[in-house]
Formats: sequence, structure tokens, C-alpha cells
Amino acid sequence: YEDISVADPEVADLIEKETWRQFSGLELIASENLTSLAVMQANGSILTNKYSEGLPGARYYGGNEYIDILENLTRERALKAFNLDPTKWGVNVQPYSGSTANFAAFTALINPQDRIMGLGLPDGGHLTHGYYTAKKKITASSIYFQSFPYRVDPKTGIIDYEQLATNANLFKPRLVVCGGSAYPRDWDYAAIRKIADGQGAYMLSDMAHISGLVAAAEQNSPFDYCDVVTTTTHKTLRGPRAGLIFFRKDKGDDLENRVNAAVFPACQGGPHNNTIAGIAVALKQAAAPEFKEYAKQVRANAAAIAQVLFKHGYRLQTDGTENHLILWDLRPIGLTGSKIEKISDAVHITLNKNAVAGDTSALVPGGIRIGSSAITSRSMKEKDAEQVAEFLHRIVQIALKTQEEAGSKLLKDFVKTFESPNTESAKLVAQ
Ligand code: PLP
Repeated sequence: YEDISVADPEVADLIEKETWRQFSGLELIASENLTSLAVMQANGSILTNKYSEGLPGARYYGGNEYIDILENLTRERALKAFNLDPTKWGVNVQPYSGSTANFAAFTALINPQDRIMGLGLPDGGHLTHGYYTAKKKITASSIYFQSFPYRVDPKTGIIDYEQLATNANLFKPRLVVCGGSAYPRDWDYAAIRKIADGQGAYMLSDMAHISGLVAAAEQNSPFDYCDVVTTTTHKTLRGPRAGLIFFRKDKGDDLENRVNAAVFPACQGGPHNNTIAGIAVALKQAAAPEFKEYAKQVRANAAAIAQVLFKHGYRLQTDGTENHLILWDLRPIGLTGSKIEKISDAVHITLNKNAVAGDTSALVPGGIRIGSSAITSRSMKEKDAEQVAEFLHRIVQIALKTQEEAGSKLLKDFVKTFESPNTESAKLVAQ
């Protein structure tokens, strides 16, 4: 039990540097958050030593008396955090991440090569909802299932539910997936339920991005309409990196056993008990009144950022936000998301380039995604959020200036460093 600073100073040093980076910069990546010390203590605990394949009371290894209590507690807290009746809903708390939770849920619900429909990636959807490129099926969800994405209306940026209904009639999916990674609006779950019912399809919501807001009743609840709900635990929910799968128990199609068997043994081995302990702590915190205040503030801060960007005349996808994220369309001012991401990095503001509907390149997309979850965890309020937006405005002004004056060789090289940081000129600028 040597301290890490003695056992491995090299890794200890990197942890210290990353700690400094996280607290000295501004974190605006919409899928990230700053979890609590208690969650990190649970996540870094001795529970990592234990194997516990199976479920509480039915394990393949001995010595699980405390792990059983922990997993049951986590399941109870997960249902309570989302106000779910345990006779109607169950939950599996073992998925290692959001991606594995989704794949396990698909495995439980449908057969290989069955048809799925999810929001397209350039429209704000997630890779694991069936994404493929024109050249290749690059995700397991498109390799093992037939996928046909639905889209947002290019004019409004809002999901085109009518077109989804028309295409569902033609494609006949077995599963309709809602949820996304870059969709700033709330979801019309009732509309999607109707479409799924029209095809006799299952409906799954991946509420990864908004689960903290759902727990605080700051977004519509997918539980009112879905058969299965998946989530990551580390975004607005502010837990450790992991996933959860909620399933209906009252539909008579044995979703409980199907989901549990899909997680283990179909897709995973031993649960990460240290992570499950971290989830339990995060769920206790999410059920507290302060978390409701936090979730409200997350939305207020995102709205405050959007207001300032509007004031400066910028275009935001869907003309605003109803949740924690903003998708800023930079195409009208002739900039790429990659350039803004790189300049922001240079001034210790972390955000990510993001495709906006109609984009053709995922590598040089026309937008950036901004999230308010992490700055709100640092107690920022609307006034601070407005200041953050002013910083972003300044970054864009710098980027526009470098474009206007691109005639000079020096400036050209400088611009190049933003696009490809590994070039010789990037090294020079870094020096
Ligand atoms: N689902 C959605 C909607 C996401 O945004 C993400 C990640 O950002 C995932 C799933 C995947 O989660 P993970 O990175 O934990 O596998």
C-alpha cells in the first residue's frame, strides 16, 4: 500500500497535471462533467478487486455478501432517482459504459440483422444508434443490425417526426431509438411511441446526455413511453463513467431476463464493482434537493450563453436550447468547428467540433458543441455563463481575423497549426 507518488511518480505526475488542467481551464464539453469527491473515492476503492459475475443472490464467485448489498442498493437508488415504481420498472447497473449498455439493450430487444432507426449522427444522434458512413459500416450497431437514420428538418434543426413516420412505414423497424449527443431540444416521446406502435416496434430512449435533467424533472421523462431506457452515468448525472439499462417489467415479454442475460453473459463479464459504488453515490446525490437546483442552473446557464451568442448575431442550431447544450453553426461566418476547437484549446477552453445538419465531413465539421454541465458544477451562474460566451465571441473574432489576413506567410502557417497540430509550424508556435 505505497502511495502512488512513491509507487509510480510518472503516473502521479500526470494525474496532478490533469487535475490542474481541469481546474484551471473552462470545461465546455457537453458530454463531460466534474464528479464529486465521494464518487471518486468509491470509484477508486478496494471494490475493484472483486469478481461478481451474475446478479445479487446468484453469483458465479464466492465472497459477494457486501457486493450483493451494494448492487441492490444501487438498483434501488436508480429507480428512486427517476421516480420509478419497482413493480413496473427494473434496472441493470452493470454496463461498463453507454456504448455497451446500448449494444446489450439492442441484443436484448431484437435479433441480428433486424432493422433499427435512430437519429442520424450529423443530426445530433450517437454513433451507437446505427451509424454508418457511405463507405463503411463502422459501428457494431450498423454491422449487426440494419439501420436507417431519421433526420432533423434542415430549416429548423428540429426532428422531422412526420418524415420519420413516413420512412418508418417503408423501412419497418423492429426498434426505434431516441436520444442524441448534440440535440439541443427536448423530445416528443409520444410522437415516437405512436410511430413505433404503428410498426409493432420497441422504443428505446438513450437519455445519456440529459439523464441528470430527467432525474430533476427538467426534461420530459422517456419512462412514460419507452420499453427500455439506457443512460451513461457521467454526463449531466455527474457520476463515474458507466451505463445503466432500465427495462419495463409489466409488458409480459420478459424484458427483465432478456436485458440481464444480454449484459451478462452476452456482452460483458464481471461487473466493475468500484464503478457501481460510484454510481450508487452519484444517485444518492441526484435524489437530493440541491441536485434539482443544479439541474435548473445547468439549463439557465446554457440559455444565458445562447442569449449572448444571439446578441452577437451568431446562428445556433434550432435557434436556441432547452437543455444543457448548444450547437453553434459556424458555417454562415465561414469558419470550421475544428479551427474554433483548436484556438479554444490554446486559451484553455475545452469544447468540441461537431457536425451540424447538412455537413458532409465529420473531420472538419461546420459547428461546435458547448455544454454547461461542468461549469455549473463549479458553481457558475448566469453572469459567469455570459462571460464565458463573451470569451467564445472573442475566439471567433480571432479566427475571423486570421482568415482575412491569410495573405501573409506567417499567418498562413499559423492558421495551418490550428488545422494540423502535428506539423513543424505547430511545434514552432508551441515553443
Ligand atoms: N449514448 C450517447 C447519447 C452518448 O452521447 C454517448 C457518449 O457520449 C454514449 C452513448 C456512449 O457512452 P460511452 O462513451 O460511455 O460508451
